[in-house]
This record gives sequence, C-alpha cells and structure tokens, in this order.
Amino acid sequence: MMRYKTLALVGALLSTVLGTAPALAQESVLNLYSSRHYQSDETLYENFTKATGIRINRIDGKEDELIQRIRREGPASPADVFITVDAANLQAADDAGLFAPVRSKVIDQRIPAQFRGADNRWFGYSYRARVIAYNPDKIKPEQVQTYADLASPKLKGKLCVRTGGHVYNRTLMASMIYNTGDEKALDWASGIVANLARAPKGGDTDQIRAVAAGECDVAISNHYYYARLMASDKAADQDVVRKVAIVFPDQKGKGTHVNISGGGMLKHAPNKVAAVKFLEYLASDEAQTYFANGNNEWPVVASVKLNNKQLDSMGKFKVDQLSAGVLAQYTPKAQRFIDRAGWK
Ligand code: FE
Repeated sequence: MMRYKTLALVGALLSTVLGTAPALAQESVLNLYSSRHYQSDETLYENFTKATGIRINRIDGKEDELIQRIRREGPASPADVFITVDAANLQAADDAGLFAPVRSKVIDQRIPAQFRGADNRWFGYSYRARVIAYNPDKIKPEQVQTYADLASPKLKGKLCVRTGGHVYNRTLMASMIYNTGDEKALDWASGIVANLARAPKGGDTDQIRAVAAGECDVAISNHYYYARLMASDKAADQDVVRKVAIVFPDQKGKGTHVNISGGGMLKHAPNKVAAVKFLEYLASDEAQTYFANGNNEWPVVASVKLNNKQLDSMGKFKVDQLSAGVLAQYTPKAQRFIDRAGWK
C-alpha cells in the first residue's frame, strides 16, 4: 500500500514537473457505479486496491438512476464498471447500449456460461434463488413444490407477493415464459393474481412476515431475505423463522429459478484496463467469498466454498440451468404479460 502511495506521489510530482501525466496514471483509478452496498463490499474494494494499486471511486445509487446517469453522461461518462442486481437490470443497461464486451480468459474460465450476458457484456458474480415461503401449520409441503403450484386454485386468497413489475418477479416471469411457453406463462400470471391474499405491497421480507402474521399462508421471496431473518438476533425475526418454512421449487423439474448480482464494463469506460482487472478480480476466490457472503448468496465460481451458517442450513438444491443472458432477453415480454395479467 505504502509503495503504491509513494509511486503515485512521485508520478504526481513528475507530471507537475513535466506537464504530462504518466501512462500509469491512466490505470490507477477505477470509477465504479454501484447499486449494491454491503459492508463486506468495502473490504472487497480495499483488497482490490491493495493487490493492484488501483484506487476505486465509488458512486452509489439506485440502479435505474445510475443507468439514466450513465446514459446522460454519454461518451464523457467517467463510469468504468456498473454493478447491480438482477438480470433484468443488467439487460436494461445492455439494451441502452451501455456495456462493452469483455474478452478475458480468466473470466471465461471462472464464470460459468450460465451466468454471463450476451457476448460477455455483463457477468453474474453471485446468485440468489426465488423460493416459496409457507406456513407449515396451514399448508402441506406437497402443495407448494413448484412455481406452477402457486397458481393453483387451491391457494386462492392465500398468496402474498410483491408487485409484478419488480425485477425479481419480472425475471421469474421470464423464466416461466422460457420454460413453459407463452400461453401457460400468461395463465400462470393470472393464477398468481387470482390467488392474492392482498394487493401487492412491500418487499420480499414483508411477504415472509405476512405469512408469519397469518395474513397469507404462502409467499414468494428471494432466499437471502429468509437467511437474513435466520441470522437476526431479534426475537421477532426468530419468531418469523419458526413460523415459516421455505421450499426450493421445481426440484423434480427444471430446478429453482436463480437470478444474479453482477456487472459489466461500460462502453465509454476511460479506464478499460482497470475495469477488466476489477471484473477478473471479482471472480477470484477471495472476492467471490466477500461478494456472495455480503448478501448471503452463492458464489458463481463453483469451487469457492462459503462458510455461511444460514446457507448451509438451507441445504443444496437443483438450480434451473437457464442462462441469465437468455433469461434477461425475455424480461421485456415478461413485463407485458405481467401487465396483461393485471399483476399490479
Ligand atoms: Fe433484494
């Protein structure tokens, strides 16, 4: 660390004296636009700087605001890398033409094709599962083994789920379209709407809490919200965990729908070498651990083993192998179907 600081200082002095910046200075900074903010990410960024000497300037914001900002900044944008969650958000950035393809042997070797966007323009670094949460006192486990079960008339008035337009549901809908075809997927969305116990409101955790509170018997949630409740030392959260069980859907079929946290290099990135280094670093064993553990997700690099009590207790499950890149391409259609079904 000291050595890099000294070098940077010498470089700065030289450039003052000579009036030109040394070539190295071009690569010593990385501008990261991120909609992810976990404590563990801080350590991750610090370690990257220690290992490479590249300083990270971070701009935090909501994903859609950051996408708008990068668009607005255009070719003058200082953004090198954009990090966000959900294939639908990454696809939105890609559809806006913001990403550049990254050619990297390291990434090709480390990140499975399933977790890469079209033409390697974005990458997933950890994955999350969309699970079913239910009240075992009121629902038999065999009633909620598949996503299709959620639309069964047997669950009429028993289901809680957040808004259909939220990216988590939009991407789940995209997987239903891909896996079951247009007609069945549209019927499924209508079935979800017909089964609602209440108008969609709140985030995934609110749906899990609503099951514990008896407002509904079944909910849809990303797995890490349940993991967070498990890890909480609040008595009320522990009570929720006691009252709610989770299921990884479609274990006898295609497997559970998973989505990603990830990012990519921007087309107008001024520090492309640093950007690729950073994207490669995120696939390293160390970074994978921090990135995944920060939000109780699973690392995309299969050989990386997490030490995470909550995830261990959830057990292993069969993952739907559908590529995040293909999935993402179905998200605009998924939104149209959600609107048609009236999933507000
Ligand atoms: Fe989330």
